[in-house]
Amino acid sequence: MSKYKMFTAGPVDVDASVLNVMAEPIKPHFGPGWMPIFASTTNLLQKLHDTSNNIIIMPGPGTVALDTAIGSLIPAGSTICIPSNGFFGKRLCDIALAYGIYPQIIPFPLGQPIDPEDVRKIIKNTIDSANFSGRPIRALAIVHHETSTGILNPLKEISKVAQEFELPIIVDAIGSLGGARIPVDEWGIDVCVSVPNKCIGAPPGVAIMSISKKAWSLSEDNPTKHGWYSDLRTWAWHMEKATFFPYPSTLPTSNIAALKQAIENIFSIGIDEHYSKHISAANKIRDHLINQGFRLFPMSDFAAPMLSVFTLDHRVNEGLIDYLRLNHNILISAGLGELKGQVLRIGHMGRAKDNDYIEDLLYGIDTFLRDTSN
Ligand SMILES: *Cc1c(COP(=O)(O)O)cnc(C)c1O
Repeated sequence: MSKYKMFTAGPVDVDASVLNVMAEPIKPHFGPGWMPIFASTTNLLQKLHDTSNNIIIMPGPGTVALDTAIGSLIPAGSTICIPSNGFFGKRLCDIALAYGIYPQIIPFPLGQPIDPEDVRKIIKNTIDSANFSGRPIRALAIVHHETSTGILNPLKEISKVAQEFELPIIVDAIGSLGGARIPVDEWGIDVCVSVPNKCIGAPPGVAIMSISKKAWSLSEDNPTKHGWYSDLRTWAWHMEKATFFPYPSTLPTSNIAALKQAIENIFSIGIDEHYSKHISAANKIRDHLINQGFRLFPMSDFAAPMLSVFTLDHRVNEGLIDYLRLNHNILISAGLGELKGQVLRIGHMGRAKDNDYIEDLLYGIDTFLRDTSN
């Protein structure tokens, strides 16, 4: 077992049943021993997304899938609208810029949700303004759970705005998929990007994407090419035409088999039960710590159930991070980007949402407050 209990915003600790799968001999990424495992993993992922869209499992971190989605769907020289309220929203802008796509950022204050009504007004104004026709808006991209602030953005309402303007929507659901419901078909999400090692509770190593028919055809028609591996056309070709295996390169089969185990665990507990475990972990941690004088950073109505972000002050300070690591073998996360030195972040994903973990955390924090009070 690891020396540390991880309450980080990622990575997260995973169940022993999932780790055990990683210890099995390496499977080839082709042939009759593997293909049923692969097919059953993508089926389980479709079920987790409530979708009949294709699922791609792409080796790499979540970022490789965001990169692939933005670069494949949107031609260079056009505009992508990015409502942003944190570090990972900015990351989407950086990816767009790297492809020669103009990010139209709609900024919202840190710790507050993206307001769908504001997004609607600004897109309408932009489309109506004559000087914009040179580089039209081609898509909307947003972060669902902004893990730098602990806000869960109102994705359903924002997707609706995208549909009103017939814009495809690309969602960074890396910090939320598996921790909160994302019915991809019902909400009309064109590309939903996530990873195994946050709320699904499986090891890192691959990214997960659901791709709508519209997203496939936009990538097909994109006049700009974006490399080979991270161009969705390469993945489409392999899914349709390749006979040996339906992806362009080697897969980390151990990671995918472990991912399958983790999703099976979720469905055997029950998906609603799995979601409510995050909520009760959040309540337990927040009730206890707010009682001790901690202040939640995000607007509480929009606080994500998988992560608690607290504001630092003279009493609740960054010393807690080292204290927990050195005295209790517990890892939590510091602030990111602009919020460095202003907040700390406590994840309750994977094993960290379980009672045995939470008891250790709360005990560790209590001793910190006792040892540092005078
Ligand atoms: C963790 C996280 C990422 C980064 O994911 P990688 O797998 O490290 O690329 C991106 N966006 C959000 C919202 C995240 O929480």
